[in-house]
Amino acid sequence: MNASFAASALVADRPDARAIHAAACGGVDPWQVNADLHCHSCMSDGVLTPAEVVRRAHANGVQIHALTDHDELAGVAQAAAEAARCGLAFVAGVEVSTTWAGETIHVVGLRVDPSDAVLLAGLARTRGGRDSRARDIGEDLARAGVPGAYEGALKYVGNPALISRMHFARHLVDIGACASIGDVFKRFLVEGKPGFVAHRWAGLAEAVGWIRAAGGVAVLAHPGRYRLDAGALWQLMTEFREAGGEGLEVITGSHTPDQYETFAAHARDFGFRASRGSDFHAPGESRVDLGCLPPLPDSVVPLWHDWPELALDSVRR
Ligand code: AMP
Ligand code: MN
Ligand code: MN
Ligand code: MN
Repeated sequence: MNASFAASALVADRPDARAIHAAACGGVDPWQVNADLHCHSCMSDGVLTPAEVVRRAHANGVQIHALTDHDELAGVAQAAAEAARCGLAFVAGVEVSTTWAGETIHVVGLRVDPSDAVLLAGLARTRGGRDSRARDIGEDLARAGVPGAYEGALKYVGNPALISRMHFARHLVDIGACASIGDVFKRFLVEGKPGFVAHRWAGLAEAVGWIRAAGGVAVLAHPGRYRLDAGALWQLMTEFREAGGEGLEVITGSHTPDQYETFAAHARDFGFRASRGSDFHAPGESRVDLGCLPPLPDSVVPLWHDWPELALDSVRR
């Protein structure tokens, strides 16, 4: 039985298709695999080291794991080594910042070759503007009565090439300017509020191209989080698919249960494979911990349904 065929048949109302597919995968049911394919380390705006992230994922029962730092692959080697030590199936990943129709859209790349020259060059260019943007954010916050925020944010930065709004957010909470990270992103750093600096990231199709050049699969991250009306969202998914995007995050720490259903339907409509990831950044800070998400709905095909990692003993257990 061809695994890909069986998974596709599943969405065509065949009650036996899932069992057939599980049989084709050597008894592993891909819908039941605890995959967490989106999270961050201190190489971007998470707080744990890549090895600590992997150990936490393993302890939480994750069976297939990816580290997906923003615009950065520097943590992947350490994460992969730790995953090998723990016996955890691991794939290299990255979350690329893109600009589409004036909005920031995130594209997760999975099973990429972390040494691919095209991807590395694209990511280096994407990271390039971050420091000057951060200085501008600091100046804007100073004008709004919060001096020294650039220096304050730097205290939280684990990778000098990757200063993010999240580092400013931690500083604003630390000095008591805001009660929580969520409070920061309501009152600061977002359009129309102090500390917002417009920025142009990579193009959407360009980022998908880098990921595919590196042998990876491109996934549209947390589609429910963008400030797009229904028509614009449809257009985004259309252009993403045309560019070679193949996956849609359905179950993510950024979605509400209602949105799980909405985006499962969009995955079916567009023929996207469905992905699942906590978007974990830090213990006690992220809404969802590593590996602690509901399973994918039966009605979608898991992104990993035909991945060779399903055959590993650590996944089959
Ligand atoms: P940047 O890539 O510098 O624009 O920073 C974006 C990061 O800020 C995201 O990856 C999240 O970690 C964080 N962030 C943005 N909006 C929110 C929000 N509403 N709540 C929590 N974190 C947010
Ligand atoms: Mn982040
Ligand atoms: Mn994101
Ligand atoms: Mn993320």
